[in-house]
Amino acid sequence: MPIITALIIVQYLGPDYNGGVAGEHILIVEDEPAVARGLLYGLNAEGFVTYWADRGQKALEIARDKDVHLILLDIRLPDINGFDVCRQLRAQGKRQPVIMLTASDEEVDKVLGLELGADDYVVKPYSLREVVSRIRAMLRRSYGELANSNVREKLSFGNVVIDLEKMQVWRSDQLVSLTPTEFRLLRYLVSNPDRPVSRDMLIESVWGYGSDIGDDRTIDVHIRHLREKLEDNPTSPRWLLTVRGFGYKFKP
Ligand code: CA
Repeated sequence: MPIITALIIVQYLGPDYNGGVAGEHILIVEDEPAVARGLLYGLNAEGFVTYWADRGQKALEIARDKDVHLILLDIRLPDINGFDVCRQLRAQGKRQPVIMLTASDEEVDKVLGLELGADDYVVKPYSLREVVSRIRAMLRRSYGELANSNVREKLSFGNVVIDLEKMQVWRSDQLVSLTPTEFRLLRYLVSNPDRPVSRDMLIESVWGYGSDIGDDRTIDVHIRHLREKLEDNPTSPRWLLTVRGFGYKFKP
């Protein structure tokens, strides 16, 4: 069976961030020393500060103790697999972007099927340049756009409050756990009230221009999850409306 290794990008929204200067801290979680060394060397040369964990447990410890802006996370690790590392990070409230390194079609399928949200992937062989550009884009998307724009800090509808600065969503004073993709979709929709937004526009807003990753179905799945988390009656939504044959609309 041909081994296809993909780079799956699961995006989380980040910790405190200083606005996109060089020297962001990248945690590399990879048990194969040669692969890790290549990444460490390459990322250091690009000006990133790097940490290396060769085990899932160690990754969790570093993520807990250090200020990490982004995590490169292998799925096949000797102790805890990458999926579970990712879940545990989220359970601990860690929301920085995680780029998952996968080694087979099966893993790609699994990541795509998980609610933790595969936002993007690159099929191996990926070059260091590719990885670096993905990292930069992800950092920009996760941290930069809010740091650089004069967005309002909070938006609300019904019993839902969206804290754009803290990247948190509250419903009836309860913190709602959204994936980063869900957060970006929601932010885009509520920033364009009463305006029908096509699926293509949503894909572009979330994955970037020219992305061939997010397809219509992916958008629909994320919207469904958003409705389940935010609407009183998800099957008959009040705010996140479907525009038949086109896309969606936020009705404030
Ligand atoms: Ca591995």
